[in-house]
Formats: sequence, structure tokens, C-alpha cells
Amino acid sequence: MTEKASLQSVLDRAAEGGRITAEEALDLYRSAPLHALGRAADAARKLRYAGTEHIATYIIERNINYTNVCVTACKFCAFYAAPKDTKKGWTRGLDDILRRCAETVELGGTQVMFQGGHHPDFGVEYYEEHFSAIKKAYPQLVIHSLGASEVEHMARISKVSAEEAIRRIHAAGLDSFAGAGAELLPARPRKAIAPLKESGERWLEIMELSHNLGVESTSTMLMGTGETNAERIEHLRMIRDVQDRTGGFRAFIPYTYQPENNHLKGRTQATIFEYLRMIAIARLFLDNVAHIQGSWLTTGKEIGQLTLHYGADDLGSVMLEENVVSSAGAKHRSNLQEIIEMIRTADRVPAQRTTTYEHIVVHDDPANDPVDARVASHISSIAIEGGTAHPELKLLSSN
Ligand code: SF4
Repeated sequence: MTEKASLQSVLDRAAEGGRITAEEALDLYRSAPLHALGRAADAARKLRYAGTEHIATYIIERNINYTNVCVTACKFCAFYAAPKDTKKGWTRGLDDILRRCAETVELGGTQVMFQGGHHPDFGVEYYEEHFSAIKKAYPQLVIHSLGASEVEHMARISKVSAEEAIRRIHAAGLDSFAGAGAELLPARPRKAIAPLKESGERWLEIMELSHNLGVESTSTMLMGTGETNAERIEHLRMIRDVQDRTGGFRAFIPYTYQPENNHLKGRTQATIFEYLRMIAIARLFLDNVAHIQGSWLTTGKEIGQLTLHYGADDLGSVMLEENVVSSAGAKHRSNLQEIIEMIRTADRVPAQRTTTYEHIVVHDDPANDPVDARVASHISSIAIEGGTAHPELKLLSSN
């Protein structure tokens, strides 16, 4: 068989939902023609979502950045301040955080992503206090937040096991983990960009533990900091192996490194083609992960639309607030009307979803599209006085 025929036969198998090996995935990632890869991934998506394959989803959410103080000093990060850098470091109070939650509810958001640095004083108790306060005030909000790195850190600060940390923050209100901190799981690239973070194996061990305790998660990947193609596929293999045992990863979300204001200084970046190939190979290789999310925040809106033809079934969120990736240079922002339009002009029917991917509303008639212009993304809004883009909002009272 020629190399071309052999690649096509692997593509055909994957498109029909068959499993491919990591070696085959690497061959496809490196050598399959871009459009053939996209066609196979799109076929695999249609097969998985037969009956609803015409729909692509989005969610309305808010990132709540509670502190930028961090002891971990990842080299790709433009967000953190070292604990001794008191001029740059900040921490939000509970009132400020609840105000942000209130706005999220007011604007139709369903999820908050609590995201911040590894603060040297924040153990399990800090998260218990904040999650229970959020749930008490806004029980309708889903807390989809943090990841294995934060669990490792808070457990160390509180001198408890990771299992106890997960049990306690789940009991306090955490619904699911956002899978933050995965970055790149293989040892070489992980050490190069995040030398003080736990190993990739430990990250997966904590996610597996969490799944076994009934707390599901999404999974992520940071592309473009100098990793090899083989290391990208190895990252996927490590996730697929855990998923075979737990089934707890709801989605896979690759995004691209942003080069500004960090120690890597834009040394390398993933190209748009590499990103599209990753979306497609993730759909084909991760046959046990239901949802593949395309990121328009880091790659741009047109590329976000293209991902829906390369295997993605979800276009992420109208992020009412984002400060982490935007600190490193991501400048794309959107709003509710635009994200609906992005999906529709990519030839899909848009649907707002929940954290667990149920459809809240399917926008099958443009005449009924929502028109609230306030539902828009605000990036680096830490600069906004009072932490709000909407001082005019009359907030819903607690409960
Ligand atoms: S990525 Fe997270 S853990 Fe790493 S330095 Fe930034 S805030 Fe800290």
C-alpha cells in the first residue's frame, strides 16, 4: 500500500468511529492533507451527533479572577504576580466576587469559572468559604472551575490529601473542574514552560481521582510553546488513557499560546493550520471524549468558525469577563448576537448550552434571536473601576 493509500485507510477508519493508535494519529497529524483530515473529523462528528449534527453550541459564562498572586511562576503566563510584588498583586474580596456572580446571572450566564493564581495563603478553606457563599447567593450558577494544579496547591497549603481537598470543595459547591493547568502533559515541554507545576502524570492522577469521586471535568491543551508534534499527540494519548478508565472528561479544548508580556517572549507560536489539524486529530483520536471545543478567543473568529468544519461541535462562550489569556495578548472579543451569527454563518444552528451540554435554547429562527447588547465579552476588565462593566445593573437579590 502506498503511504497515501495507507493514510486514507486510517482516515476512513477514524471517520467511521474506529479507534486509531497514537502512531497513526501522529502520521495523520503530520502528513494527511488538511482538507481530508477535516472531512474525516467532520464525518466522525456527524456520526457521533446523528440527529443533532446541524447544531453547534455555546455557553454564557464569566471568568472570575480572584487573585493574580501566584507562587508557581509559569513562563508562558502574563497574568501572575509574585507574592513579594505587592504593587502588581491583587486579591478580590468576597463582595466583589459576588457582584460579578450577580451580573452573570442578570445577563443570562449559567456558569462561572473561578480562576486565579496559586496564592501562598489559599488552602482548601478559602475555596470552601467562597464556593459556599456563591452557591448560597446564586444557587442557579454552576461553578465549573479550577483544575488539578489548584487541588495540588490547596491540599499542600491545608496539609490534607488531594482526595480530601476534592471532597470538601465539591461539598462546598464546586460542580466540575475546568481542567486548568493541563498545559502540556508530557514531561519535557511541561518542565520547559511550567517547571514548578506538578508533573503531567500527577495532573492526570488528580483528574482521575476527581472523576472517581463523581466530579467531572473538561480537559485542555496549550499549543505553541515549542513542543513537538509527537509531544502534542502524546498529550492526547495521556488524556485518552485516563478517559478509557473514567469517562469523566466531558470535552477537550485546545488553545494557542499568546506571546505578549511573558517570559517565553513569543519564541514560537502554533500556526492556524496546526490548530485546525489539532481540532481534527482530537476529534478522530479522542473517540471517547464527546465534545471538542474550538477557541475563537485565541485564534480569531473566522478560525473559530472553521473549527466547526474540522470536528468541533462547540464554540466556547460569550465570556463576560476574561483576564488571563487576554493579558498575554488575545484581543478577540465577541457578544451574544455575534457568536450566534458566527455559528449560523458557519452553516450550523446555534444553541445555548448548559455546562453539561444540554441545549437551553436552539436559535432555529433568526427572527427570535436575543438582542441584549450587554451580553458581551470584557477582556482585562480588572482595569474597570469596581470590577464591573455594568454599574447600571440593578442586581438580583440573593436567592
Ligand atoms: S498559569 Fe496559573 S499557576 Fe502558572 S503562573 Fe499563571 S496563574 Fe500561576
